[in-house]
Amino acid sequence: MTLPNSPEARDIAAHLHPYTNAKKHLEIGPMMIESGQGVYVEDRTGKRYLEAMAGLWSVNVGFNEPRLIEAATAQMRKLPYYHTFGHKSHGPAVDLAEKLVGMAPVPMSKAFFTNSGSEANDTAMKMIWYRANALGQPQRKKIIARDRGYHGVTIASASLTGLPANHASFDLPIAGVLHTGSPHFWRDAHPGESEEEFSTRRAAELAALIEAEGPETIAAFFAEPIMGAGGVIVPPQGYWPKIQEVLRRYDILFVADEVICGFGRTGHMFGSQAFDLTPDMMTLSKGLSSSYLPISALLANDKVLAPIIEESDRIGTFGHGFTAGGHPVAAAVALESIAVIEERDLVGNAARTGAYLHQRLSALADHPLIGETRGLGLIGAVELVADKAARKALEKPGQLGAAVNARLLERGVITRNMGDALAFSPPLIITEAQIDELVEALTGALDDTLADLPR
Ligand code: PMP
Repeated sequence: MTLPNSPEARDIAAHLHPYTNAKKHLEIGPMMIESGQGVYVEDRTGKRYLEAMAGLWSVNVGFNEPRLIEAATAQMRKLPYYHTFGHKSHGPAVDLAEKLVGMAPVPMSKAFFTNSGSEANDTAMKMIWYRANALGQPQRKKIIARDRGYHGVTIASASLTGLPANHASFDLPIAGVLHTGSPHFWRDAHPGESEEEFSTRRAAELAALIEAEGPETIAAFFAEPIMGAGGVIVPPQGYWPKIQEVLRRYDILFVADEVICGFGRTGHMFGSQAFDLTPDMMTLSKGLSSSYLPISALLANDKVLAPIIEESDRIGTFGHGFTAGGHPVAAAVALESIAVIEERDLVGNAARTGAYLHQRLSALADHPLIGETRGLGLIGAVELVADKAARKALEKPGQLGAAVNARLLERGVITRNMGDALAFSPPLIITEAQIDELVEALTGALDDTLADLPR
């Protein structure tokens, strides 16, 4: 029940929400979050929650880091806005571009600034098409992504995304975007198949897709080092070496979507380092500014950029860019967020407390509702099942995930269920004691849910 003229009622009346059942929202209304502190947020009634998703996998430095607030204020006062079109630049854009190129785990040549993960991936796709034309290979435009992958919601990036809800009724994916199988070993492996055998099969399927389409038509492969929104899918043994071998064999560009994995999440600065990936392009957002302000970036190496630079000269301009791209206030906040991550060794903390999180989650493996626990660093998931042997949840997919998620909310923990996988991706400042708090709430929520299940 929402009171007339309450923020909840006004939200219902005026606000269409992303990723929300719009009809159900008319009945239940919003949960209003009012403030944040460290790994916690508070709702309008004053109830405190451990924010175990760091917002949307993104508030790496926690919810009230004064250094970021000061960086924003100082830049606002000095120069609140300027663009970078037509040879203009400003200090924060230069500093951040140089910082990102310098931090990249493989040689990257330049950074291009965008405002969201979707825009970064969309831009990557446009650059790949532009480059193919520059190289006189206009037929080489097809892009391969993966089932269960998540790359955003613009027309191009939603096409890359391999989740049904992002395509249904949107008339997506667009032509020329193909999907290959996901690295979800627990769900997709054949009975008796080892991790290596499964990875070999996935790589062979990728090669078969490339051969069937014609290798001369395939421009690039997009992938997250660890899939996030698809259910926190950590690739099995042998997966990345075998996939990368196929990409090299056919000279296909590799775009690593580091939007979630970047800036410490996996216990490495970038997810690419966790798996020895050698991408040609990397897309970055979320942890880049700890989501205090919208900003994203795309890094590209010389192999990608040299033809693009020539083509822009032939045409007269690189005809792409966003009004707010490289926004000076967002760039200043991103620089400060990276400085906090480096100075406080939050990457090391993600590795250490992440190991503790996975140790505590794996200790729950015998719980009747847990099918698998997985993750790396401070990203993890538990796969919920009602029937362990059959690896099945309830009749309706996602119902069990939603039930445990709701029980956790009652216990003061915010998580997110992707179907029946319950994800954890807390701020990188989380302590072992706070992990204990999270795991104890999870255990209680699992027990409550189990008690409610029809026998
Ligand atoms: N790529 C990945 C891996 C993501 O997780 C997301 C967002 N969840 C995006 C891209 C899209 O980012 P945005 O929502 O900022 O457009």
